[in-house]
Amino acid sequence: MDILSDDPVTDRIRASLLAGAIGDALGAPVEFHTIGRIRARHGVHGLRDYVPAYGRRGAVTDDTQMTLFTAEGLLEALRAPDSAPGSAIDAAYRRWLRPQPTPFPGAGRESGLLAEAALWATRAPGHTCLSALANPGRGLGERADNNSKGCGGVMRVAPIGLCRRVGDPFALASAAARLTHNHPSGYLAAAAFALLVRRLLDGEALRDALAVTLDRLAGEPGHEETTAALLQARALAEAGGPATPERLMQLGGGWVAEEALAIALWCALVAPDLESALLLAINHDGDSDSTGSLTGNLLGAALGMAAIPARWLADLELRECIVRVADELAAA
Ligand SMILES: [Mg+2]
Repeated sequence: MDILSDDPVTDRIRASLLAGAIGDALGAPVEFHTIGRIRARHGVHGLRDYVPAYGRRGAVTDDTQMTLFTAEGLLEALRAPDSAPGSAIDAAYRRWLRPQPTPFPGAGRESGLLAEAALWATRAPGHTCLSALANPGRGLGERADNNSKGCGGVMRVAPIGLCRRVGDPFALASAAARLTHNHPSGYLAAAAFALLVRRLLDGEALRDALAVTLDRLAGEPGHEETTAALLQARALAEAGGPATPERLMQLGGGWVAEEALAIALWCALVAPDLESALLLAINHDGDSDSTGSLTGNLLGAALGMAAIPARWLADLELRECIVRVADELAAA
């Protein structure tokens, strides 16, 4: 498959999903490691390349799996004009949930994303997503019955920003995250992230996209934590200074949504290129695969495929599947 597209928008949609998956895969082996442990194992500069996780180099985690299912649900909703996107995305998440921990049934037995063996693998899925999706009391498309703001809502909604048929990515990403995370910071961080992705895809500079996003957040009840996290990331970037793990960790660990978003924003603002941004995003005490994934989604949408190191594309799990989904989002 030719991974470069002549169409600039298709190129950036592919890059956003692929760089997100690369950030996820880079962070996967150190998701639960402190920076001290990362340095002890991988050297003073931390992890610089893929190392095996889940039995291979370039293995993705639940972040990329759920991102792909967000796209599949969204695309289904767009094909059936009278279907509600939130319900279609919920149904797709329930398909993601179903395989775990079932073994892959074999080639040709399933269609869509479930035809991919790697999407049947259990990759450290978040407890909140699992329990909300499996809750028999929650109807299709309904909000989660919890007060969670884990980063499981924000880390999966990039496709909503990347699909230009979605008129209001902020609103739909909020609804999609709220299926599993019903704390305002859990779903407003997702809403803000999808809007940032959209504005970057449309060619806006990150600082301008951030200003628009902060304006939109200001009208939402319960936005204060998310707004404060974004402002803190911007201030930390504007203060200058070395881009170190210690500096990143002033923004938190990224286990909760607004911190994960703030970390990704800071990495995207201060790193000179996509490669250094991803390495910055994964080397810290916190949720490395999710902050890597969000950073890749943002910068891929802004910079396109030319910014992605070829060596990381070569070993990336699900690469062809991700390009296929990106092209469907572009064609929608
Ligand atoms: Mg993960």
